[in-house]
Parts: sequence; C-alpha cells; structure tokens
Amino acid sequence: MKYFIYCAILLVSFMSSSQTNMNLYNIVDSISEERLREDVKTLANFGTRHTLSDTVSETRGIGAARRWIKTQFDNISTACDNCLEVFYQKDLVKKGTNNRIIKDVMVVNVVAIQRGTKYPNRFVIMSGDIDSRVSDPNDFTTDAPGANDNATGMAGTIETARILSQYKFDNSIIYVGLSGEEQGLFGGQGIARYAKAQGWNIVGVLNNDMIGNIKGVDGVIDNRTFRIFSEPITTAETDPEQLAHQNNARRFYGGEVDGTSRQLARYVHNITTTYMPEMNPMMVYRLDRFGRGGHHKPFCDEGFAGIRIMEAHENYTQQHQDIRMENDIMYGDTFEHVNFEYCKKLTTVNAITMASLASAPPAPSTVSIGGIVEPSAKLNWNAVEGAKGYKVYWRNTTSPTWDHSRYVGNVTSFTLEGIVIDNYYFGVASVSANGFESVVTFPNKIER
Ligand SMILES: [Zn+2]
Repeated sequence: MKYFIYCAILLVSFMSSSQTNMNLYNIVDSISEERLREDVKTLANFGTRHTLSDTVSETRGIGAARRWIKTQFDNISTACDNCLEVFYQKDLVKKGTNNRIIKDVMVVNVVAIQRGTKYPNRFVIMSGDIDSRVSDPNDFTTDAPGANDNATGMAGTIETARILSQYKFDNSIIYVGLSGEEQGLFGGQGIARYAKAQGWNIVGVLNNDMIGNIKGVDGVIDNRTFRIFSEPITTAETDPEQLAHQNNARRFYGGEVDGTSRQLARYVHNITTTYMPEMNPMMVYRLDRFGRGGHHKPFCDEGFAGIRIMEAHENYTQQHQDIRMENDIMYGDTFEHVNFEYCKKLTTVNAITMASLASAPPAPSTVSIGGIVEPSAKLNWNAVEGAKGYKVYWRNTTSPTWDHSRYVGNVTSFTLEGIVIDNYYFGVASVSANGFESVVTFPNKIER
C-alpha cells in the first residue's frame, strides 16, 4: 500500500512536468512553414520597404508594409480575445543625423504586447525588421524585396505571435517589427529608449535578422546550423552588483565571458538542444558579425540582455544588392532564395525560448560564491518569489555552455562537494513549479 501511494505521487508529479514540456513540443509542432512563406511573399511584394520610401501608397513602400504588419497583429489579437496591445512607436530622425538619413524621416516600429498574468512589467522581446535596401543604402525607390533580409525575421515574429497568443504566460511578451535598421539601427534605438523611459524590466531580446538562407556564398549548404551572437559583457555596467566584476576583479574571479546577453545566448542554446535536437546552434562570442551590427545592439547599449539569431551561412550576392544578372550570377534578395523549412526551424527556436522564458520566475539577483582553498564550491543566493526551487550550473572554464547542473530544491545555499572552485565557472537559475527555468545568474558577490 505504501508503495502504491509512493508510485501515485511520482506519477502525478511526472505528469505535471511532462504536460508542461508538452506545451513546448506543441509549439514546435504549430509553427507553420506555409504561413511564413505567405508572409515573406507579401512583405517582399511591397516593392521596397526602405526606411525613406513611400508611406502613402497602399501597395508599395514602408508605410504600406507597416500598416500590413499592424493589421496582422490586430487580427491575431482579435483571435485571442484582444490579448495583444498593438501600437506604433515612432521617433523623428532628422536629415543629416548620419549620411544615410538624407531627409527627415519618421522611424516607425510596430509593437504588440501580450501582457503577462503574474509579472506584467517583465518582458521577453522578439524582434524582426521591417525595412530593406539595395546596393546603394540611400536608394529608396528601386525594388528591394528584402526577402531574407529581413522579411524572414519579421514573418517569424508574426508567426510566433500567432502561436504564443494561444497560451497565457506569467511574463509579458513583446513582438516587434523594427524600422531604420539599414540606415543605422534607429528603430531599435527608439524602442530601447522607450523601454528605458517606461521602466520596462526586460528579461531579454531575441533579435532575428536573416533566418532563411541555407546556401552560403562559399557553396556550403547547411539547414541545421544557426548562429547565436552575444556580446561577452555589457558595456553599460552601472549596477553596483556588477561592478564587482569590472577591471581587476574579473582577472581574479572570472566573468569576462558571462554577461547577461551571453547567459541569454546559452539559454537559447540549451532550449534548442533539449527540444530540437536535430538543430545545431552555434554560440558566437561577439556582439555581431565582424564589424557589422544588428537591432539587438541598441538594447545592449541601454544595458539590456540582447542577442542576434541568424543563419550560419550568408550569401552576399543575395544581400543588399540591386536585382540584376552579372557574370551569370543572379543578384538580389528575392523570395525564391529563402528556404522556408529552415526559416520555420529558426522561428521555432524563438517560439520555444520565448515560451520558456515567459513562464519562468525571475533569476536570482544576487549570487555569491566561495570555496577558496577548499575541495568544494559554495553558493548562496537570494530567494526568488515564485520559484519552486533552484538549479546550480557549472562548466569547464573553456566551455561556451552550461554543461553540468544539479537541481537543489528550495534552498538558498548549496555546497557542491568535491567540485573544486578553481576549475569551473558556476551560476544559479530559478525554477518554476512547472519546471521552467530562468536565465542563469553568474556570481556577482565573493564570499571570503
Ligand atoms: Zn541588412
């Protein structure tokens, strides 16, 4: 009889956690390749979506494109009983701000907020871009379909909204289409500053920019690998907790590759390998590609965690190019070059990461570590409201990912016996009753 009761309890707890996991698997199965194809086609057919292009026409230019995007979010909201707050966020950028702003322009982003039931002011954000360009960055009239760059990221964001709006989450989710990317990251800057002014507590930003190309300019074809770009530490360190890691402190205790954006990148990696084992996420230890930028950067500039999700193999003949035939090569970022199975996979990576993060309690804000000249590592952290327990993570100092972990239950300190502090990096995540984990907090206090 005792045995039976024990088994029954086990079964119930297993079921509750497997049901939660089932939600993420259901999301994996729900993202539609066909809808992504239709949306990218529609976006590419606006002729050009250049930031400085026509805003009056209903069929051509960035005005028509952003109104269409807003209509998609409005329709999604109608279908979920008005679960989205949809609005334009805009800033006037004056002529001459840089050499790509050749006339005054209103940079307009399209924002859709799915309000969290428990933490309405905590946000996980997914972004794609509205705007496109051709060879000359200031040519705002020539056809610039921008099918891969970046209708794919925009369509992925809309599709994620369609699916996740069918669920309720503890944290708020923002789906956003950003403008002005090609002219100097103006849309991201606008919304990041808006977020700061509104006092938004941002858990992380997943910026999607080019998520549909599988054939590299070097001929490599790969429909499994994708890149997660993250900066090592924030350049906007103002939090006194983080000051412990500046300058010499980092030399002695580590932390130079463990900023909040990097932890977010590891989170995406972990979720992907857990729920989409066929994919091959590649951690790239830099803000963005060599000397190039993307719309997560303005968020990072404001001190928020932000990463870029992107195809692994770019094709430069299909990026920022006038449509033309030259030396038997067809140039231009056109619809037929996009691989929608791959676009669907990368959209799914976003959707399950967003769902997991939006279901997780806040990460511990303070984690202290000690264990100098001892055979064990000791960790202490603050209790997080809404956490059922905590998970301690550690990894070899050269590993890009948190390879070892131990769920330690509802405690606020733990000693990893026999794990020598010198040989690993450590961190702590909060875990919800349903098993959803926060991003890992790297120790920000030293115990002597
Ligand atoms: Zn671009």
